[in-house]
Amino acid sequence: MTPMVEIRGLHKAYGDLKVLKGIDLTVERGQVICIIGPSGSGKSTLLRCVNLLETPTGGQVFVEGEELTHPDVDIDAARRKVGMVFQQFNLFPHLKVLDNVTIAQRRVLKRPKGEAERIARENLAKVGLEDKADSYPAQLSGGQQQRVAIARALAMNPDLMLFDEPTSALDPELVGDVLTVMRKLAQEGMTMLVVTHEMGFARDVADRVVFMDGGVIVEDGPPEQVIGAPRHERTKTFLRRVL
Ligand code: ADP
Ligand code: MG
Repeated sequence: MTPMVEIRGLHKAYGDLKVLKGIDLTVERGQVICIIGPSGSGKSTLLRCVNLLETPTGGQVFVEGEELTHPDVDIDAARRKVGMVFQQFNLFPHLKVLDNVTIAQRRVLKRPKGEAERIARENLAKVGLEDKADSYPAQLSGGQQQRVAIARALAMNPDLMLFDEPTSALDPELVGDVLTVMRKLAQEGMTMLVVTHEMGFARDVADRVVFMDGGVIVEDGPPEQVIGAPRHERTKTFLRRVL
C-alpha cells in the first residue's frame, strides 16, 4: 500500500543555515510517529515541510503518493489532506468556538452553513466541548482552546494530522485532557506525526519514535528501543535531560 507520508532526502536551508540535512522518513497509514529532540534540531521545520508551510531546498515529500515537492502540484488540494495543530492555538479571538470550527470548512471546502455547523458540533463533541460552541476563546482554558484547535483541524477531514508540541504552552494540569483526545484519535486509526516532549505519551501511543538532532534523524525505532534502550550517545544525553 502507498505510505501516507514518504520523505526522501529532505533538505531545508535558510540562507547559509542548513536546518534539515537529508531526512528520510516513511509513515504508513494509521501509524503514530512521535518526533523528539532538542530545541533547534529542525522538528518544526520538518513538519512544516510536510504541509508546505516551508518550501524544501532539496529532496522529495509525498503524501498518499502525491509528490508535494513537484512543481505542478496543486498545493491547496494537497494541504487539505493534512491537518495541523500548533503550540499556540491560533483561534480567532473575535469568533465564537462554533465559528472558529466552521470558518475554514465554509471558505476552503465551500460547505453550506448548516452542514459545516453539524460537522463542527460533531467534532466539538469528539474533543469533549459540545457545550462550549457559543463561548469565545478567551472564556476557555488553554487546554480547552487547544481541543477546539484539534476539532477545527478534524472538521476538514484530514487524512493526516501534524501536531507541533501541542501541549507545550499549557499549564501542567491541562496537558492530560489534550493528550487524552490525541490518544483517542490514535486509537481510531488517524495517522499522526507528533512533535512532543511528553515521553509518557510517546512511549504508550507511538508506533515509532524518531530522535532528531542537528537536522538529521539520529535514531528511529519503536518506543521501547528509542526511549527504553537508546543506542546513540546523543539520544541518551537528550533523554537524561527530559526524563
Ligand atoms: P525545533 O522545532 O526542533 O526547535 P526548528 O525547526 O524550529 O527547530 O528550527 C531549526 C533551526 O532553524 C533553528 O536554528 C531556527 O532558528 C532556524 N529557523 C527556523 N525557522 C527559520 C526561519 N524562518 N528563518 C531562519 N531560520 C529559521
Ligand atoms: Mg519546534
